[in-house]
Amino acid sequence: MTRHVVIVGAGHGGVSLCAALRALDFAGAITLLSDEADLPYHRPPLSKAFLTNDTPEAENKLLLESQSFYDEKCVDLRLNTRVSALDTKARTLQLADGSLAPYDELVLATGARARTLTLPGSALEGILVLRTLEQARTLRQRLTGSSSIVIVGGGFIGLEIAATARKLGKQVTVLETASRIMERSVSPEVSAYVTRKHREQGIILELDSTVSAFLGDNGKVAAVRTATREWPADLVIVGAGSLPNSELAQAAGIACSNGILVDAQMRTSAPNVFAIGDCVTFENRYADNARLRLESIQNANDQARLVARLIIGEDASYEALPWFWSDQGEVKLQMVGLSIGRTHCVTRGEPELGRFSVFHYRDSTLIAVDSVNQPLEHILGRKLLAAGMSPDQALIADTGIALKSLLD
Ligand SMILES: Cc1cc2nc3c(=O)[nH]c(=O)nc-3n(C[C@H](O)[C@H](O)[C@H](O)COP(=O)(O)OP(=O)(O)OC[C@H]3O[C@@H](n4cnc5c(N)ncnc54)[C@H](O)[C@@H]3O)c2cc1C
Repeated sequence: MTRHVVIVGAGHGGVSLCAALRALDFAGAITLLSDEADLPYHRPPLSKAFLTNDTPEAENKLLLESQSFYDEKCVDLRLNTRVSALDTKARTLQLADGSLAPYDELVLATGARARTLTLPGSALEGILVLRTLEQARTLRQRLTGSSSIVIVGGGFIGLEIAATARKLGKQVTVLETASRIMERSVSPEVSAYVTRKHREQGIILELDSTVSAFLGDNGKVAAVRTATREWPADLVIVGAGSLPNSELAQAAGIACSNGILVDAQMRTSAPNVFAIGDCVTFENRYADNARLRLESIQNANDQARLVARLIIGEDASYEALPWFWSDQGEVKLQMVGLSIGRTHCVTRGEPELGRFSVFHYRDSTLIAVDSVNQPLEHILGRKLLAAGMSPDQALIADTGIALKSLLD
């Protein structure tokens, strides 16, 4: 009998899983359910190049695959199809139109959504978030007609939008509640360098600034209030992180805690139900087995490939090395490994010259590398970490020694 794999969510994880299953000659039926109206697309450009280009080509370039891919691979892609309930005993999904969809194997690839703020004035017009293509279209259009933009949150997405808006000639203010930007993800050296670069471009970047209210004029946002002052704004973008789309799993009785809990094989607490990508939390071997929810293309794609192997009957576990990138104007950041639990860092190169890497150590073990405009060092950092190598810190700091030679 033909096996039927149903995937909920057609983002990076869901689409990669379809491709991986067919590449492994999976001959069963594949149904890919998406609650969005657009063909599945790349999310990273939404906060970068897409905001400056409103041509049809820009939209075309976003597509993960064209319609012919789904036709040729016999993937039944159903857009505008929200899954509203899951019965893990009967192995059926309930769709928003009331119909039922049975499965043999189910993969939840429901991703995450942008976190919104509940503050006085939050409902004013002109306060946006960015997660979907539809939201990016709105933001792109609103950017054109705005002059003073306040971005709440100095994380990757907020800073990418800030750099793009500044390039468009807008007055841009970033308000960050912590004492440094991207605090959870990069070293203090990298935060300091990127802060300086953004300020050199004319972005106002306020640290230790917590937003307490949005102020309006005729129903439209006009300013953002922090403890020290009010910041005029005709457009506000909240970049305050994301929340996992785990409600469907939770309502079905599947174990969740800041995301859907999965084991090293992406299996949830329900039989025949996997989960992958931004919606899952798992024990990460690169963070001393701490439970983490990673949000990156690498993570979604690698977990999809693993689940494809498991579905066709192979035995494997998730061991992929985490990596991530962020493009902020002229600054290209690339991170590999997880710096949680680092005891100290070693800087290689000159931050003043804008090309350097920070190597994070936990005692004498190399655990992560953040690279700024140093793509080659990022690649070599990946190789060192993948090989479990921890070169002597003095050798790492010495730019007279080729990093490559430390791999020998
Ligand atoms: C603006 C932006 C910039 C980014 N830049 C980078 C970057 O530079 N580098 C990087 O590595 N990562 C970046 N990311 C993160 C990256 O896009 C995510 O890690 C990745 O999209 C995760 O893929 P996913 O398949 O888990 O989830 P998603 O891509 O979020 O896809 C999940 C899909 O499931 C759908 N869905 C949810 N619930 C249901 C339901 N009940 N029924 C039907 N469908 C449902 C959602 O609508 C969505 O379409 C960025 C993200 C954003 C938003």
